Amino acid sequence: MSAIKKIGFVGLGNMGNPMAGHLVKAGFDVTVYDIRPEAVKAFSLQHAVTAAASLVDVAQGADAVITMLPDDKVVRRVVLGDGTENCVAAGLARGSVVLDMSTSDPTGTRGLAAALAPRGIAVVDAPVMGGVVFAKDATLDIMVGGDAALVERCRPIFTALGRSVIRCGGIGTAHALKALANYVNACALINAIEAMMIGKRLGLDPRLMADALIPMCAGRNHPIEKKVIPHVLTRKFGTGMAMGFIAKDVKIAMDAAKSVGAFAPLGERVSELWSAAADQLGFQLDQTEIARYWEEANGITLADGK
Ligand code: NAD
Repeated sequence: MSAIKKIGFVGLGNMGNPMAGHLVKAGFDVTVYDIRPEAVKAFSLQHAVTAAASLVDVAQGADAVITMLPDDKVVRRVVLGDGTENCVAAGLARGSVVLDMSTSDPTGTRGLAAALAPRGIAVVDAPVMGGVVFAKDATLDIMVGGDAALVERCRPIFTALGRSVIRCGGIGTAHALKALANYVNACALINAIEAMMIGKRLGLDPRLMADALIPMCAGRNHPIEKKVIPHVLTRKFGTGMAMGFIAKDVKIAMDAAKSVGAFAPLGERVSELWSAAADQLGFQLDQTEIARYWEEANGITLADGK
């Protein structure tokens, strides 16, 4: 298989913007597209890229098209079109690859791969762990699913964007792992918030609790260290990851659980809570503002010193 030189990149949002920038720095020939023309314009002013005017343009001549989009439904629309030929697949040649780095539903990913196979276009799922800071530092952990030789062909892309590559298995397995990882994270975050909320009602200081919980019973606790202390207690609420995306990811994990008949009562409740909070408070709010869902119900906050 020939090396990937020319990349089409779709989705210049919080994550896609720095990721596309790293690909340019790594020497790839990058063409970018986003549904928001202002995002494309701003990116093109800062980087040596080609700005595509359409989804067909971004794919034309590309060895690979990378999608960094909200979910698999948007990815499917962008790649296959919604009854129109203004789509990535219409611009891609046989032998090219679609690399979906979004957090997508594994069933949707497998459906996309099946739909593209007759056109000779392959799919690799390569979702990322680590937020905007990791995307900016090119230190993402990248989970990868798909044909082994194809994954090797894509490896220079992963090297430019991340610090590790986790080979998961066949197509869709990386999207499954990503959703399950976010379920574990989402569960641990509201577990800590709920415990601290009860503790505060019982007269405990939130920061004292956060600092004590880690060594006492939680080991290295990512949500307390990276979310509760720096974003909830300080009221910064600025991780760069939307609450609605976490709700989506936990729902993907639970849909996947249902698809294989797995017993997952805790996950179902966690999914309901995240979806209810995103509906009530707002999809676009930072994930750490989930604390407000408990704060409003309890009439107190976890803010430092209050
Ligand atoms: P974002 O909303 O900031 O960016 C999405 C981008 O896609 C936007 O620029 C939007 O304009 C563009 N877009 C939407 N529909 C489009 C279409 N039809 N055609 C072309 N462009 C379109 O989202 P994000 O935070 O960058 O996240 C992207 C993906 O990465 C999601 O699947 C998310 O779950 C996942 N993710 C996010 C983080 C994070 O910390 N933000 C971390 C890991 C994974």
